[in-house]
Amino acid sequence: MMSSSIPPVCPLYIGGKWLTPDLATMGAVHNPSRGSVLATVPMCGAAEVDAAVAAAKAAFPDWRDTPPNERAQVMFRAKILLEDAFEELCLGIATEHGKTLSEARGDLRRGIEVVEYACGIPTLLMGESLENIARGIDCHTDRHPLGVVAGICPFNFPALVPMWMWPLAIACGNTFVLKPSEKVPLTMQRITAILEKAGMPAGVINIVHGGREAVDALLEHPDVKAISFVGSTPVAREIHRKGTLHGKRVQAAGGAKNFIILMPDADVERTVEAVKDGAFGCAGERCMAGSTAVAVGEAGERLLPALADLVSSMRVGPTDVRETQPDMGAVISAEHRARVAGLIDAGEKGGAKVLTDGRGVLVDDAPEGYFLGPTLIDRVDEGNPLMRTEVFGPVLAVMRAKTLGEAVAMANRQAYGNGAAIFTNSGKAAREFRRTVSAGMVGINVGVPAPLAYFPFTGWNDSFFGDLHIQGKEGVEFYTQRKTTTTRWFSFGDGEIWAK
Ligand code: NAD
Repeated sequence: MMSSSIPPVCPLYIGGKWLTPDLATMGAVHNPSRGSVLATVPMCGAAEVDAAVAAAKAAFPDWRDTPPNERAQVMFRAKILLEDAFEELCLGIATEHGKTLSEARGDLRRGIEVVEYACGIPTLLMGESLENIARGIDCHTDRHPLGVVAGICPFNFPALVPMWMWPLAIACGNTFVLKPSEKVPLTMQRITAILEKAGMPAGVINIVHGGREAVDALLEHPDVKAISFVGSTPVAREIHRKGTLHGKRVQAAGGAKNFIILMPDADVERTVEAVKDGAFGCAGERCMAGSTAVAVGEAGERLLPALADLVSSMRVGPTDVRETQPDMGAVISAEHRARVAGLIDAGEKGGAKVLTDGRGVLVDDAPEGYFLGPTLIDRVDEGNPLMRTEVFGPVLAVMRAKTLGEAVAMANRQAYGNGAAIFTNSGKAAREFRRTVSAGMVGINVGVPAPLAYFPFTGWNDSFFGDLHIQGKEGVEFYTQRKTTTTRWFSFGDGEIWAK
């Protein structure tokens, strides 16, 4: 299905205008199901970032002074238009990312929930006050937007991750410069066109594209007040370092290695289904993927045969056709497929046992796609190369432990701390796990404990750099600064009729 026509250029959106700069460096946006090029993307530098920040800065005073309930109206209209375009947007997500249509629906649905949360901004922004803190003196605190804020996104949730950022940032009264992942910029291009229709004023949201050069320009720009970043840990750490060095408020969410503890008393059927979904949903390209299972005691013997059966029954295939959807789609690129396959090789050489092997999977109707089948690999030990890094692919590593304490210690010895889950029927084991595991989002019989819009996305350790997390009330806190006013009036005013 290689197209012979020239792929379109994904434009920038600056000050309410769609622009296609004539840049020397262009990236390619792939359809991972086909190995074809869908579009090219301008790899922006300081000049384009300067223009976007200038547009956002110019739009800020008016937008800041727009009453919160009017800002909310734009969000209400955006929500309705996003619903109208829902299925079309989802097919676009599935096409540029490779995830299944049902996973794309989850991606956009979770994102729309943030828009819905942002519709409540008048309530969310309310301050606090205390009358008569001293005789005749009142005090109140209220929230003010920061100014121009920027968002930098990864490839794995083309709708959701940008929507973790712009709805709340904008509803709070900031203006926004977004840099979507250069691998999946088309979804936010379509969503921005919807925001334009929803009446988002020019300059309130601006889109630039590219990679490190564009990001560095945002990090160094004196008019950018805050940075929201989501991506891999090495980049997140560096973004936090550079951004704070330049005096910005930074929230930087990084990678993960999420442990799933399987207790011997877990419900077999439901656990196996949830573990399969957690590990192989979105082809494992999720920061909340349950990529490492630790079977405690007899749990391995009870659960693994059923899990292996389920995993080997999964159908892998192209996701860009509405009618025929597989259980799992392609990974993002040929390079990423090679990297993940290399990690499976290394894991096997390191002594682990491959139970279901996704390497060399053949997909007849899409031979050029970047496919890798679901891989279940058992008897992985802590020294195995698979355990040294985030795999971010359709691979579930299984480890063994004698006790819950041993399993939790294994989870806590690795560097990340996004999610962790336990499958058990014991309230005591679940409570012990919840209290002692060093991860910020915990699932109890829930494989992917990703919080919805109303809660913060509370990664710990090397999965998050910063103080205030993305989403929920922490998101509102991040995108606003407080002003506390202390008031005293000396008299009623000379000669005024109400004076005592
Ligand atoms: P990535 O770190 O390669 O890229 C993320 C963003 O940073 C992109 O916009 C990219 O253009 C930019 N970037 C890349 N290298 C850079 C550099 N050296 N300097 C400045 N900017 C740079 O991540 P990815 O491969 O797009 O996404 C996958 C990663 O994102 C995984 O590690 C995953 O766990 C993580 N992720 C984390 C969360 C979370 O909430 N913790 C959510 C989604 C994804």
